[in-house]
Amino acid sequence: MEARQVVVVVGGAVAGSEAAAMAADRGALVIVIEQNTRPYGKIEDGLPRWHAALRRKEYGRIDANLDHRDILFVPKTRLGEEVTLDELTQEHGVGTVILANGAWRDRHLGLPALDRFAGAGLIYQNALVRWFNHHLDPTWTGPCYALRDGAIVIGGGLASLDVAKILSLELYARALAARGIVVDTVEMEHSGIDKVLEEHGLTPEELGVRGCTLFYRRSAEEMPLATDADPSPERQARLAKTRVKILEKVMRRYFVGFEPNAVAAGVLVEDERLAGLVFRRTRTEDGRVVEIPGSEFEVRTEQVVSSIGSLPEPLPGVPMQRDVYAFRDWDTGELDAERGIFGLGNVLTGRGNIKESRQSARDVVRQLAERRHAETLEIDSASEEAHEAARREAQAVLDHALAHPPMAGAQVESLLAWVHKRWQEVGYDGNYAAWMDAHRPWDWDIAEG
Ligand SMILES: Cc1cc2nc3c(=O)[nH]c(=O)nc-3n(C[C@H](O)[C@H](O)[C@H](O)COP(=O)(O)OP(=O)(O)OC[C@H]3O[C@@H](n4cnc5c(N)ncnc54)[C@H](O)[C@@H]3O)c2cc1C
Repeated sequence: MEARQVVVVVGGAVAGSEAAAMAADRGALVIVIEQNTRPYGKIEDGLPRWHAALRRKEYGRIDANLDHRDILFVPKTRLGEEVTLDELTQEHGVGTVILANGAWRDRHLGLPALDRFAGAGLIYQNALVRWFNHHLDPTWTGPCYALRDGAIVIGGGLASLDVAKILSLELYARALAARGIVVDTVEMEHSGIDKVLEEHGLTPEELGVRGCTLFYRRSAEEMPLATDADPSPERQARLAKTRVKILEKVMRRYFVGFEPNAVAAGVLVEDERLAGLVFRRTRTEDGRVVEIPGSEFEVRTEQVVSSIGSLPEPLPGVPMQRDVYAFRDWDTGELDAERGIFGLGNVLTGRGNIKESRQSARDVVRQLAERRHAETLEIDSASEEAHEAARREAQAVLDHALAHPPMAGAQVESLLAWVHKRWQEVGYDGNYAAWMDAHRPWDWDIAEG
């Protein structure tokens, strides 16, 4: 076998599939290692399923990227379990590994006393949205959640609004069903819970629903729902107005409560069950959140959903700097150039490290999410922008990575032998389109519209 440039991409979603397609177009042989059956990442599990058209469009783009002669897709294979970084780089001699495995670990809420209620009294955002997107699938085997009326959401970013909406939609759908009124949560998202109740001549009080409340450590005007890298004072004022407008719409249409300037400071337990949280008031001083001593107050609740951000999962062999990967260069995504390890997309999560001017894929998706909440999102241009940004990011990595000497023929052969062995173990025959046809998401037809 001839010597060849080989690139291993870990994670096949938006960032990974763009990098894979570009590397293949530049003549490399690309191996995409994906932990799941499908490579749709946060599109399938993080973008709420009421965005059916956007999700379907993204599925199509990822498929179009990965269905390529020189891309070998390896599903159901998790880096760190079925194969390690050391095996790839040392045993197989792979010169370039691109980590595009996203940010799937929820930031810890920081209330250790709450941890014992994990899975019932305490739910984290990533698991909740994944459940919401999948739980109607009769083949779903993941965790199931019994949502509690009066739940608290802790957060303040765009994802926390989705989480609050999910809770509200589910709670109201359940209360309506108890009255014999069957509504689809996705249809209710489109029309608004307020309209659905109006149609049936009902109020939240009549239904007996407390709903959920979002607790945020700052004010509504400070929520990171609409951002700008370097806003003028006028722009800053407009941003604050937009944030309040986005929040108020969610409160009005989905009956979500909001409690600003409050941080969770303690846990109330009664009879071994979660009974509530203690909050402390805050104020903002010079941009920083300051807790006000003696301002504690109790809130009764049986359930807390934490939505305070997602981080990349630690992987054996990947250096960490506190909670995030220790990138040597946040602009090029370089983790370790000698070993040929780079990162792309959501793995580049790290506060304040990325130059705003770089317009990383992460920043673009964030802006798109803002427009999605502000309902100014055009699907076609949104999707194009996100992929364009992912390509820009991948371009820099590939320029660096493909300058490596190619892999020796014998090494390529040994790596391909591993790929074929893995294919056999997971039942994949190398035909991407046929595999995806046989493993469509449960709501594929719904998404098609
Ligand atoms: C227009 C638009 C709007 C969006 N809006 C939102 C939004 O509001 N909310 C939201 O959550 N997302 C949203 N997204 C989706 C998501 O945030 C983006 O797609 C983002 O670009 C992340 O992509 P990624 O490829 O870096 O990560 P991910 O989509 O997370 O993909 C990572 C992939 O790596 C795989 N993986 C993880 N660990 C391993 C491992 N150890 N071994 C092998 N495989 C692994 C995962 O299974 C996954 O397929 C939006 C995307 C678009 C295009």
